Formats: sequence, C-alpha cells, structure tokens
Amino acid sequence: MMLEVRDIHTYYGESHALQGVSLSLKEGETVCLLGRNGAGKSTTLRSIIGLNAPRSGQVIFAGTDVTGWPAYRIARQGVGLVPEDRRIFPGLTVRENLEVGYYQRPGTRNPWSPERIFDEYPMLAELANQDGSTLSGGQQQMLAVARSLMSAPRLLLLDEPNEGLAPVIVKQIGRLLDDLSKTTTILFTDQSVHFALQHARRAYILEKGRVVHEASSEALLDDEAIQHRYLSV
Ligand code: ATP
Repeated sequence: MMLEVRDIHTYYGESHALQGVSLSLKEGETVCLLGRNGAGKSTTLRSIIGLNAPRSGQVIFAGTDVTGWPAYRIARQGVGLVPEDRRIFPGLTVRENLEVGYYQRPGTRNPWSPERIFDEYPMLAELANQDGSTLSGGQQQMLAVARSLMSAPRLLLLDEPNEGLAPVIVKQIGRLLDDLSKTTTILFTDQSVHFALQHARRAYILEKGRVVHEASSEALLDDEAIQHRYLSV
C-alpha cells in the first residue's frame, strides 16, 4: 500500500471535523475524494500531510507510520500537496517558483528540473520569466501542480484542482493529471462526479467527516441516487 489512513479523527479546536475516516491507495492508483462543501475533503488531505494532525487514528505512508509527524517531514518522505489556494509565490518568476519546489530525497535521483517541466508543458515555458502572481487562475494551477512535481513525490495530493477554472483549462488539468498518474500515486478532491470519474478509477465519498460510500468510477457514474444524495450535480 502507498497510503493507508486508519480511522482518523481530526479537530479544529473543539469542532470534530473528521469522525473516523479510513481509506487506502495502492501504488500507482489515482483515486478521488468526493463530497460537498464542508464534507471534510481538505481536512483529510491536510491530515495526511500533517498540516492538521489527527487526534487519533493512523496515517501510514509507504509502510511508515507518519502520524503526528510535522508536515515538512512527511513531505520529505515523498508526499506532495497542491493546496486549494495554490500558494504561488508572488515576486518570484515561474522558473523560480519551480526551483523552490525542488527537493531530492536522500538516496534517490530526482529527474525534474525547470527545463524538463518546460519541455513537457510548453504553456509554462512561455511564462518562464513572468512573475507568478501575474498568471491567470488556470496558469497558476498548472504551475502549482508542476511545482509539486519538482519534488518527485511518490504520492501527490491535489485539493480541488478545478475549482473556479474555465472548461478549457479544466481539460488541460485533466490531461496533466492523466500524465502524472502514469508515474505517481494520486489522491485528489472534487465536488462533482464528472471530471473526477473521468480521471480516477475509484472514489470515496465523504459527508460530515465520514466516508459514506466507496465505489469504482463506473459504478458511481451510473448511480444517480448516490450522486444526488452526496454530491453537487
Ligand atoms: P470545501 O470544498 O469547502 O473545501 P471540504 O470538503 O474540503 O470543503 P473541509 O474544508 O475539510 O471540507 O471542512 C470540514 C469541516 O471542518 C467543515 O465543517 C468546516 O467548516 C470545518 N473547518 C475547516 N477548516 C476549519 C478551520 N480552519 N477552523 C474551523 N473549522 C474548520
């Protein structure tokens, strides 16, 4: 298993946001975490990478129990996060934003460089010397994903990669996700089924901090009752 989340409970102060979430991903899988606003999707990703440590339960990454570790240490084990708000560094160029993302895990070779990113994603090459904060929302999202690639993560977490983006950009993000899924294990969140199930093989549905359903993408696409009950359609 690349990731095993076992019965985690996560709080914001006294507010019990995750009430026993369990899920798992095998190496190479692309899985989606679905659910409406406030269901607990972001909190689940933040719990996995240690930004909101669970109060109980376990997070096992590639066989190592990382529960309670600080986020930077979990990231260095090979977990990348593309947060919902993207966090592009203003005042740094696109190239510099990519350079900041570079990290080489001891004992491994990281093949990524800004040049390789530019070769693979020419849209970013054209923007290489532009201040990251001047990019459109879609361009910033591409940059945020590319920056997370720069650390060659073994597991990539993406929080609502499509939020607020125009359909043409959503298509590009979809292609990028499909490319990434050839080499990386991916867990991403979304509010509706269509994009998610096109790009993931399997999904978990969250509601009120609990996993209420798990199914293959095909099964979910056919299941309108579940879609209406738990998702924005
Ligand atoms: P969204 O699509 O809005 O990001 P989500 O499914 O990712 O939704 P979370 O952001 O994980 O949901 O929120 C889960 C619960 O935790 C919600 O009830 C939310 O109000 C609460 N919550 C999230 N962040 C905080 C915070 N910083 N302080 C207090 N409560 C929070």
